[in-house]
Amino acid sequence: MGCLFCNIVEGKVPAKLAYENEHVLAFHDIRPMAPTHVLVIPRKHIVGIGEATEEDVNVLGQVMLAGRHVAETLKLEDGYRLVVNNGENAGQSVFHLHLHVLGGRPLAWPPG
Ligand code: IMP
Repeated sequence: MGCLFCNIVEGKVPAKLAYENEHVLAFHDIRPMAPTHVLVIPRKHIVGIGEATEEDVNVLGQVMLAGRHVAETLKLEDGYRLVVNNGENAGQSVFHLHLHVLGGRPLAWPPG
């Protein structure tokens, strides 16, 4: 079976794409927690932010800038949130690094 998000990168699992470039892919979350909920992932398999290394600095920056690009493209001009869950207590459920882009409604702080 392997990594679900690697399978999306490889086109083996369908996804509703929002953006892609040579470094990243962005697609709509299947269980949206906000009117807009997109995930940005590196094409490279990185388990989570806890496993990223100096070698990944560029791709991490690409993920962040892609998050902003998605937010601008999807017109989240009233505000949006970029979230990375890392590990069990944070609720990470897919172990391929991903940035949540959430917006389209007021977002409570602190998160649960
Ligand atoms: P996490 O809980 O931070 O690891 O986020 C994983 C996210 O992946 C959750 O919001 C899920 O709804 C989402 N997800 C799981 N499987 C798929 C899929 O096949 N397509 C799109 N999103 C998915």
